[in-house]
Amino acid sequence: MRYGPMVVILTYHKVLDPCPGERPDFYTVSPRRLDEHLRLLRSRGYRFLTLGEAVDAAPPDDACILTFDDATADHHETVFPMLARHEVRATFFVPTEKLDRPASLTRAQVTEMAGAGHLMANHSHRHVRLDRLPPAEIRDQLLTSQEILAALTGERPVAFAPPGGYCGGKVPDIAGEIGFRAVRTMRWGHNRIWNPSRLECLPINRHVDERRLSNLIGGRHAGLLGSIYSGKEALKSILPTGAYEALRGAADNLRKR
Ligand SMILES: [Zn+2]
Repeated sequence: MRYGPMVVILTYHKVLDPCPGERPDFYTVSPRRLDEHLRLLRSRGYRFLTLGEAVDAAPPDDACILTFDDATADHHETVFPMLARHEVRATFFVPTEKLDRPASLTRAQVTEMAGAGHLMANHSHRHVRLDRLPPAEIRDQLLTSQEILAALTGERPVAFAPPGGYCGGKVPDIAGEIGFRAVRTMRWGHNRIWNPSRLECLPINRHVDERRLSNLIGGRHAGLLGSIYSGKEALKSILPTGAYEALRGAADNLRKR
């Protein structure tokens, strides 16, 4: 562990334009917006690392780690070529059960993206909430995904993100046992204390435009935003997933008015 200024880890989900007449998901950002984010981050001089590179050596203070969760098809169709244009490598958290299904990455795409230097990392096999499962099932979820990704990329993933950010119970012990060198949680923060077994991130939603991203990475209002987000995380941990999603949807609707 070390105390340092910050390491920015951004968490994206889908990168898609909404279908006409359809309300976009809270965490879906448009391709144009991701492009603006990449331009902004590059103009600020950030060094882009994969999570694997970040744990090989303590990351520099200007490190930025981009993560994309859930292996949706747009990660190959849109994100992959855009990252290539910006010469940026990222970390993709892949729930392996989804591979080759409609609207998901294919096995061949996972191999192709790993070949281009991106880190294809563990997000469990079935994308289930892990902290409430018996230890043997948690282990099975993580090991099944390790085997599939190792067969596709030639390497056992060194990084893991628990689905939904639920990283309580036996999850940390089992992640340690399996030998992950980095665990990205959904705890909001700038990693001012560098602790690879419990990394904080800045989740990006569709309301994060350039100005908001600039504030987020600059840490302005970070204390206040952090306490709001911790409140949300606390709520999320005590509510059933469906109830939390319903609340978030209602809040999102209010914001739109
Ligand atoms: Zn996920």
